[in-house]
Amino acid sequence: MKTAIITGGAKGIGRAIALKFAKEGVNIVVNYFSTEPAALISEIEALGVEAIGVKADVSKFDEAKALVDACMERFGRVDYLVNNAGITKDGLIMMMKEADFDAVIDTNLKGTFNTMRHASPIMLKQKSGAIVNIASIAAFLCNAGQANYTASKAGVIGMTKSVARELGSRGITVNAVAPGFIETDMTDDLSDKIKEYVLQNVALKRFGKAHEVAELVYFVANCGYMTGETVTLDGGWT
Ligand code: NAP
Repeated sequence: MKTAIITGGAKGIGRAIALKFAKEGVNIVVNYFSTEPAALISEIEALGVEAIGVKADVSKFDEAKALVDACMERFGRVDYLVNNAGITKDGLIMMMKEADFDAVIDTNLKGTFNTMRHASPIMLKQKSGAIVNIASIAAFLCNAGQANYTASKAGVIGMTKSVARELGSRGITVNAVAPGFIETDMTDDLSDKIKEYVLQNVALKRFGKAHEVAELVYFVANCGYMTGETVTLDGGWT
């Protein structure tokens, strides 16, 4: 059986991805930071696969290693790595705190590096594997007030392409998925004004759902002859 590590897998888009891969018969390592995943683990196991929850702050190099090690200890292989963990700390550049810049870069960009750094030797040895990094259309829209988030997600897209070139000769694919506005806790707090602006600009005139991102992530992870690509899912916004 195949095994997937989903970072930030206990809620939002990550939770939907964990459930999708489980429905497809994949054992799941649910990485979490503050959301206790016990109920989700039971839900996943009820689908007939095995699952473990591993607490780790992906922005920390050693904790990301412990996450990958836990997967190897339990399942002995890493077939899929989905780098979904991410945060926003929006603010205009002249007021952005250094800590808010660092936190977003450390979680979104360095966290993605950390897990790829530790999982790639295993995938190289296996001569197989698929990595999907969750980017964002923010990398293309470059919204005011999101210099940190935009930089982190543009960095993820660039890093995805570099790593795809490095791992391709061993049959490992590395791609990114860039969602638009998806209904989760991350977008819940945004003002009605912003939500209305989004709806005006989205061709499909509705927000995306986490399970729609999950379907695409599973597809991208199993495409085979696609690597270094960034696939958007934004209802026709960009
Ligand atoms: P969310 O509901 O706020 O979930 C964020 C996830 O990231 C949580 O599972 C959280 O874990 C995890 N996380 C945060 N910091 C972490 C850390 N240091 N170590 C490990 N996990 C950490 O947000 P979401 O909307 O599902 O976002 C998921 C991904 O999609 C993010 O990368 C986000 O940038 C991207 N995205 C979202 C949208 C959108 O419209 N929602 C659009 C484009 C891209 P805990 O809860 O356990 O702390």
